[in-house]
Amino acid sequence: MTRIPKGLMSRCSLCRRIAIRVLEGVSLIMLLVISALWAARESWQPSIRLGYEEGWTRDYSVASLPIGVQFQYYSANGKWEWLREEDKPERAWSFRFAARSGYLTDYPRSWFKRSLLGFRLGVYSGTESIPTPTYSFDGEVSQCELLVPHWFLAAAAAIIPILRLGRLHRRYRRRRRGMCVKCGYDLRATKNRCPECGTPCESEAGHATG
Ligand SMILES: [Zn+2]
Repeated sequence: MTRIPKGLMSRCSLCRRIAIRVLEGVSLIMLLVISALWAARESWQPSIRLGYEEGWTRDYSVASLPIGVQFQYYSANGKWEWLREEDKPERAWSFRFAARSGYLTDYPRSWFKRSLLGFRLGVYSGTESIPTPTYSFDGEVSQCELLVPHWFLAAAAAIIPILRLGRLHRRYRRRRRGMCVKCGYDLRATKNRCPECGTPCESEAGHATG
C-alpha cells in the first residue's frame, strides 16, 4: 500500500536509497560501539588495536583507548639490516585485543604535543640508530599520534541517526494530518497520488476520503 511501484523508481534513486540506508546503519552501529566503549571506560577498559605494517618501515593503526580512539602513523626511513633474511618482516595486518589497556602514556620530551578538549596530538621526528641482535636500523623516524575523544566521535556518529529520526517524525506528522509525506501537499481531497509530486497517498485521511 505504501510501496512505490517498481517502474516508477529509477535505478539511480534505488542505489541512492540503498547507500543512505547503509550509511545510516553504519552510523548507528558506530554510535552504539563508541557509546559502549565510552560507558565502559571506568569499569572495563578494553583496548582494541587494528594495524597495518609495511615491513616495519611504515605502520598505520587505530586503537581504542580509555579516553578515545587513537590514530597512529609511524615511518622509519633509512638503512635496515637483517641478520637473517627470514626474520625480515613483511606487509601485514594485525589485530590486538586486551581486556585492560591503560597504556596511554605521556609523550617523551622530544615530542611536539598539544591537547585540547580531550583531543591529543603528538608528533615526533628524529634520527635514530637502533642495533639489536637480529636487525639494525639507521635513519629517520617519524611518528604521529592523534587521539580523538569519545564525546566527539559519539557526536559525529549521532548526526545521521538524528537526521533520520527527524525525517521519520516529519513523515509521521504529515501522514496524520493528511498531507503528502514527501512534499507536504494537502491530500485530504485526493485519492491515489499527490497531484504536486506524484507520490502515492500514504495518509490515512487521504484514503479515508476515497
Ligand atoms: Zn507530494
